[in-house]
Amino acid sequence: MKIGRVAISKVFTFDSAHRLVGYNGKCKEIHGHTYKLEVTVKGKPGSDGLVMDFNELNDIVKNEVLKKIDHKYLNDIFDFNPTCEMIGLWIWEQVKNKIDNTSCTLEKLVLWETPTSFITIDRKDME
Ligand SMILES: [Zn+2]
Repeated sequence: MKIGRVAISKVFTFDSAHRLVGYNGKCKEIHGHTYKLEVTVKGKPGSDGLVMDFNELNDIVKNEVLKKIDHKYLNDIFDFNPTCEMIGLWIWEQVKNKIDNTSCTLEKLVLWETPTSFITIDRKDME
């Protein structure tokens, strides 16, 4: 059997408040979202048959991302306008720093601000 690279993903949710600075619309007022985050890493399964233990990916995202921004006011944490795009890029950096210590690559991140509005970041756009 050919052992190719396999993508594995986990989905998380977190609740955060923000307001958008310099934005002319409803999001200029302080409000909250239940964000949904999907993180995908890719690698070849090792001799144990695993690309990465789902629990390891879970721990990385919980420690590097959720502990810092879940139930927080994002404008107090970030020195950038906390749009979905910018939060996604920040999450990418937090997670990538840890994934780079493994044999896997961070492939894709999807961040939903609402059930119908989301951003996507792909590895090829971050190189
Ligand atoms: Zn908003």
